[in-house]
Amino acid sequence: MKTNEIPYKIYLSEDEMPTAWYNVREAMKNKPAPLVNPGTGAPMAAEELEGVFCKELVQQELDNDTPFIPIPDEIREFYKMYRPSPLVRAYCLEKKLDTPAHIYYKFEGNNTSGSHKLNSAIAQAYYAKQQGLKGVTTETGAGQWGTALSMACSYLGLDCKVYMVKCSYEQKPFRREVMRTYGASVVPSPSETTNVGRKILAEFPGTTGSLGCAISEAVEVATSTPGYRYVLGSVLNQVLLHQSVIGLETKAALDKYGVKADMIIGCAGGGSNLGGLISPFMGQKLRGEADYDIVAVEPASCPSFTRGKFAYDFCDTGSICPLAKMYTLGSQFIPSPDHAGGLRFHGMSSILSQLYHDGYMRAVSVKQTDVFKAAEYFARVEGILPAPESSHAILVAMEEALKCKETGEAKNIVFGLTGTGYFDLVAYEKFHNGEMTDNIPTDEDIAASLAKLPQV
Ligand SMILES: *Cc1c(COP(=O)(O)O)cnc(C)c1O
Repeated sequence: MKTNEIPYKIYLSEDEMPTAWYNVREAMKNKPAPLVNPGTGAPMAAEELEGVFCKELVQQELDNDTPFIPIPDEIREFYKMYRPSPLVRAYCLEKKLDTPAHIYYKFEGNNTSGSHKLNSAIAQAYYAKQQGLKGVTTETGAGQWGTALSMACSYLGLDCKVYMVKCSYEQKPFRREVMRTYGASVVPSPSETTNVGRKILAEFPGTTGSLGCAISEAVEVATSTPGYRYVLGSVLNQVLLHQSVIGLETKAALDKYGVKADMIIGCAGGGSNLGGLISPFMGQKLRGEADYDIVAVEPASCPSFTRGKFAYDFCDTGSICPLAKMYTLGSQFIPSPDHAGGLRFHGMSSILSQLYHDGYMRAVSVKQTDVFKAAEYFARVEGILPAPESSHAILVAMEEALKCKETGEAKNIVFGLTGTGYFDLVAYEKFHNGEMTDNIPTDEDIAASLAKLPQV
C-alpha cells in the first residue's frame, strides 16, 4: 500500500462501530486471578461484590469466558455522540522525525471529558440506572474520570458523588467546575466526611491524597448509603472490557487499509486504555495468529510494572476494598504529586498484570520532564495539545520511531492518544518555567511500602 493512499484521519462510519465489546480474558490460558475477600482469603462471590458494584457489572467482572458481550443500544447511541474516534496517521510527526516508521494514534480526546474514560463511564452509569439505583460514588485523580462519570450520570439522570484526590482538586479547579456543571458533588480527598478519610488525615496530616485514599472514601459512602453503588474508572476487568471499543475500532480502521501494526504503545495508570487498545490484538497474539510488540509506559514516579511486585494487594489505601492480584507498589504507597494525575495509582489491572507476568507485553518507565518535552514537540507538530498521561505514550512512540531511523525499518507504530491537556496547563506552565522536577521513589521507599503487603 502506498502511503499516500492512507488518509490523515481514518474515520469509520457509525455502522462500522463495534456492536459488542471484546473480552480478552476468553483467550488467556492463565486467567487473571480473582478478587479476594481480605477477611477470609476466599475469592469474592458475586453476591459479596454486589454490595459494592452494580449487578450486571459484577457479571462482567467475573466473566472470563464469553468472547463478545453485546453493547446495549442505549450505550451505542451515546457512543455515537463522540465515536467512532479517528485513527490518525501522524504524517507530520513522521516527517519531522525523518523516520521511515509509520506512526498512527487513536485519538480519544474528542469529547468534553477530554479522555477515553467516557467509554466506560456511560456503560457503568447505564447498568446502575437499569438496576434502579439513585446514584453512584467514585474517586477521581486528575479529574478525567469524575468528569466522564458526571457527564454520563447527567445524561441518564443519576446522582453522582465524586471524591477527588486533594492535590488535583487544588491544582485543577477547572475540572471540578466542569463536574459541577454536570451536576456532580465533588469532595477533596482525604476528607472529614468519611471514617476512613478521618483516619487517614489523623495518620498523615497534610497529605495531598492519592487515588487509593479516594477509593476508600467513595466505597465507604456507596456501601453505607441505600440506593448507591461504587463505580471505578480503571483497573477492573469490566473497565478494560468497555474500553475494548478503542482497540476494536483501531483494528477495524487498520484492517480497512491493510495495515498490520508492529508495535502498540499505551500509557498505563490502572491499565484501562492500554488494555482496551490492545484487547483484539492481544487476542490474536494469545491464539498465535499474529505477533505484536506491546508496550506499557508508566511514570518513573509511580512504576508499578517495572519496580512493583506481582502480589495480592488492596486497591485502596484504607484497606476496605477486596484484594486484587496485580503488579503493585503497595497500597500504602503515596506517589509524589506529579502532574500525570491519571497515572498515580499504586496497582495495575489484573488482566494486564497477568499478561505482563506471562511475557505477552513489556513495560518501560519514563520521567515527567522527558514526557513534557515530548508533549510540547507533539503539540507543535501534530497540533493537538496532549494530556500529560497520553504524552507518556507519545514519548515512547517517538523514541521507537527514531530507532527505526537508525535501523531503516518501516515499522507500523500505533499508540493511544488518550486525551487532551487543556486542564493541565498548570503543569505545562511549570514545565515552561523550568520548575518541573522528577520525583523518583528510592528502592527504600518502595521496599517499605511493599513490606506492608497483606499476607494471603
Ligand atoms: C485516566 C487516564 C489515563 C490512565 O488510565 P488508564 O486506566 O491506565 O487508561 C490515561 N490518559 C488519560 C487522558 C486519562 O484520563
